[in-house]
Amino acid sequence: MRCTNLCAERQRLLDAYTESAAALSRFGQAVAAAAVSYEADLFQRAWDRCEGARLRCAESRRELTAHMQEHGCEFGLFAAAASNK
Ligand SMILES: [Zn+2]
Repeated sequence: MRCTNLCAERQRLLDAYTESAAALSRFGQAVAAAAVSYEADLFQRAWDRCEGARLRCAESRRELTAHMQEHGCEFGLFAAAASNK
């Protein structure tokens, strides 16, 4: 369920981070599956794709964190919760 109290850009970056983390998980599973194979090329390709996914995930997280710090919206949820009391 989407929280409507997040600023739009934070939500967009959070969605991107969620997608990149899911991709990293999928590629990590592919590396694990390739590890039991005797095909070195198969393992290396899976490893390379996983490393690319790891870098994209780290960048997504960095963008999300930077936005929250620059925009100040990391406190938005707390302010919304306090105003509901
Ligand atoms: Zn924001």
